[in-house]
Amino acid sequence: MAEFIGTVTKKGCTDVFVAGGGVAGSAAALAAARCGKKVILAEKSLKLGGLATLGLINLFVPMCNGRGKQIQFGMAEEFLRLSIRYGYGDVPKEYVNGRIPEDVKRAYEAEGKKLPRYGAKFSAEIFALALTELLTEAGVTLLFDSQVAGVEADPGDPNRIKSVILLTASGFESYEAKEFIDTTGNADLLHFLGVPTVNGINYHTYCGQGISLESCRKALEKEDVSAALTSADGGTATLYGTRHPESVKVYDGTESSDVNRYLISNQLEMLSHYKDEENRKQRDIVTLPGMPQFREIRRIRGDYALKDEDRFRHFDDSIAAISDFSRRDLLFEIPYRALCMKAYPNVLTAGRTAAGDGFAWDVIRVIPPAILSGEAAGIAASHAIDEGKTVADVDIRALQKALEEANVLIHFDDADVPEEVRIEYENNDVH
Ligand SMILES: Cc1cc2nc3c(=O)[nH]c(=O)nc-3n(C[C@H](O)[C@H](O)[C@H](O)COP(=O)(O)OP(=O)(O)OC[C@H]3O[C@@H](n4cnc5c(N)ncnc54)[C@H](O)[C@@H]3O)c2cc1C
Repeated sequence: MAEFIGTVTKKGCTDVFVAGGGVAGSAAALAAARCGKKVILAEKSLKLGGLATLGLINLFVPMCNGRGKQIQFGMAEEFLRLSIRYGYGDVPKEYVNGRIPEDVKRAYEAEGKKLPRYGAKFSAEIFALALTELLTEAGVTLLFDSQVAGVEADPGDPNRIKSVILLTASGFESYEAKEFIDTTGNADLLHFLGVPTVNGINYHTYCGQGISLESCRKALEKEDVSAALTSADGGTATLYGTRHPESVKVYDGTESSDVNRYLISNQLEMLSHYKDEENRKQRDIVTLPGMPQFREIRRIRGDYALKDEDRFRHFDDSIAAISDFSRRDLLFEIPYRALCMKAYPNVLTAGRTAAGDGFAWDVIRVIPPAILSGEAAGIAASHAIDEGKTVADVDIRALQKALEEANVLIHFDDADVPEEVRIEYENNDVH
């Protein structure tokens, strides 16, 4: 291996260092700052929000159980509200204080209509700006254009991070911290430390935002600017791999060659849809995704990986109850052990790098649960400092109490799981 030639400038110390400013990292940084800690958040791109903004995934999946009851609160609710505060998008008006009132439900039933689910589409760019305001006002030091490029382990313990090395416009810089949270979405920081990770599988999906004269006309009619946006497609494979071309090898997203293969093939495919020259002035592409739309890159093994069989299961160390975005009635709890590992004393993760297996990983990685695990990681990092403990050993009751005070539902109510649904899932390995 070639020797590194260059200098690393030491930039100082902080309490909590958050790597990656997606929704999970933003929540983690905000939560730690609200606990009174000095927080630095480094983001390799030029805006906050990660996939939710830069990646154009501007939709909060449902945060309810599909029967008119909201399950995910805390910062998931706060960020959802923030995402639509200054831009387009609405939450279903049927929800009152986290529930659809019984008479409204009956009216839906009488008409044979499905209940609306609690979530919202939002303006990716305006949400990114609103996150910058929220975090700077909370006192978080934001370092944009700063990519985590390595870590320096503690000389006395190779599993403890002493400092993180960033590649910035000024060159290589290092920051020391007491606790580190990896919310890079690809576990870059943990990978540099040598933490065992699991790779995912990604299909051929690439979707930008477009505009056309026709869509603008519709927007004018509806008086809703969001109707002006259309989707500009490259690959259109779904979460389940439907429409993934047979000739294309799936992507894992951890190799530069893989990322480039994905980007170049998808960009050329998208361009091929815009070669109808007679329509040149009728439509445009407004934005390309600023990061690969890979759902799963790396996740930690964790001290516990959430499994699909854990639906309806209560965990003593739950940090949030969450709902399944695609399957009505399925409720999970995120165990704290999915965010940390006993062997690594001062590192946590959150968001899509939290430990999960099979479809349970999909359930915990989407936007609302990613925010909730970020919030828990931020508070846990702060508690680890205050309690003088390793992250895995923080007082779980104190963590749960702090989360409850922040309006997070820690345990779902068994009464919300219909008996027939529980039996159906017990008897069949239904996916
Ligand atoms: C195609 C697709 C469709 C989806 N659909 C939905 C949906 O409809 N609704 C929904 O709720 N969820 C959806 N998801 C999932 C959801 O978008 C993500 O799981 C969630 O946003 C992950 O948030 P995160 O903060 O964990 O990670 P990310 O959003 O990946 O954030 C990580 C951040 O870290 C930064 N970063 C990466 N490496 C480094 C580094 N080395 N140094 C510094 N910074 C770094 C990145 O730039 C990024 O800003 C979808 C995902 C995909 C790909």
